[in-house]
Amino acid sequence: MPENGNCSNREQTLDELRVAQKLLVVTHENPDGDALGSLAAMRLILQSLGKDAAAYIDPRELPLPQEYRFLPLDDALHEPPSDLAERTVVFVDCGSLERNPAQALRSAGVHIINIDHHHDNTCFGTVNLVDPDASCTAEIVWELAHALGVAPTPEIAEALYVALITDTGRFMYENTSARAHVMAAELIEAGVDVPAIYRRVYEGIPYGKIALLARGLAKTRRYDDGRLTVSELEAADFAESGAEESYSEGVIDHLRAVEGTAVAALVRDRITAGDGGRKVSLRASDDRVDVSRIARAQGGGGHRGAAGFTTAMGWDELVEFLRGEVAQQLK
Ligand code: 5GP
Ligand code: MN
Repeated sequence: MPENGNCSNREQTLDELRVAQKLLVVTHENPDGDALGSLAAMRLILQSLGKDAAAYIDPRELPLPQEYRFLPLDDALHEPPSDLAERTVVFVDCGSLERNPAQALRSAGVHIINIDHHHDNTCFGTVNLVDPDASCTAEIVWELAHALGVAPTPEIAEALYVALITDTGRFMYENTSARAHVMAAELIEAGVDVPAIYRRVYEGIPYGKIALLARGLAKTRRYDDGRLTVSELEAADFAESGAEESYSEGVIDHLRAVEGTAVAALVRDRITAGDGGRKVSLRASDDRVDVSRIARAQGGGGHRGAAGFTTAMGWDELVEFLRGEVAQQLK
């Protein structure tokens, strides 16, 4: 598994983006701000070069998280186009092929450009551009726009900015680099209205999201002197709060911030997937811990500080597994 993006071929990625006339831009399941911002921006960048570029969002991801619904993705396709075989498929922010639920994208012969910043990206593309040092995938997209000679319009800048602020935790997580701030400065010069974005992304919170957060906080359990902080949101919690599936995003940020926590985990029922599986989100609050290792042990993945996996384990078994993993890493 490449730990340093050594499958990357920047020149070939640029050549292919220059030459391709028909493209389809896609991202990962449960798309977050970086996924959707990079998707919208990449698509607009390609269109500004006169290309036929469509965005694809799997119908299982709808409705999109309300905080990202203002991004210019209204005309995204919700089924793979019939001319898929003629299109270059550009994956953004997606660590592995399996993280997009559309089977059609996995068929043999699909030509893929894989643009990502996850250190455990499986290099599944025909051509890959994986840069684990990029704060967000949007940072790579921004650099590609420069190389392609596309100056960000206010719309492109806004989409890139949403990706940047959400993946860096508003410029506070470890991935926040000087380059991330340079990118922000350039995007603001290109027309981003910062307080307007703040209100759209972080305010206007549906009440159901607050009700769900209240349940998530109330169900918090701490183990091993608080090193492991876990909470759980079941289907009933979503239903009784009037919450959409995506409203659980952000709950884990409260858990990770609890004094003494080394690892925070949020377990939630997968509702639209309807497979009875549960989604586990992990965050590290202690630099010694790499939660992507814990996630990979269960077939998932992610970054050192933020990772996830899907499981059939029940609560007790899951907690025992997590306690064991945390103890081992802190040994
Ligand atoms: P979240 O907990 O916010 O859903 O995801 C945190 C990070 O872990 C993101 O970078 C996401 O891409 C990654 N991640 C979450 N779930 C999975 C999974 O099931 N498989 C893989 N490979 N990565 C995941
Ligand atoms: Mn990302």
